[in-house]
Amino acid sequence: MIEVTLINNKTLQTVSATYTARELVSQGGEDLLMENMMENLVCSCIPIGETNVIECDCWEQWEDCHLEFDGE
Ligand SMILES: [Zn+2]
Repeated sequence: MIEVTLINNKTLQTVSATYTARELVSQGGEDLLMENMMENLVCSCIPIGETNVIECDCWEQWEDCHLEFDGE
C-alpha cells in the first residue's frame, strides 16, 4: 500500500489515504487523484435543495494543494 497525503499549501491541513499501486494507476493521474481525494476526504458537504449544487468553499480552500506519496 502507498500512503498518499494531500497537503493544503495555504492552511497546511492534510488528509491522507492509502492506495494499492493498481488503484493509483487507475486514478489516471495526479490531478484526478487530487480531485478524488477532495471528493472523498475533504468535501463531504451535502447538496442543498433540488439543484444538486453543493454550496461550500472546500474547493476554494484547497485550490492550492499538492500530493505526497509515502511522505515524499
Ligand atoms: Zn464542501
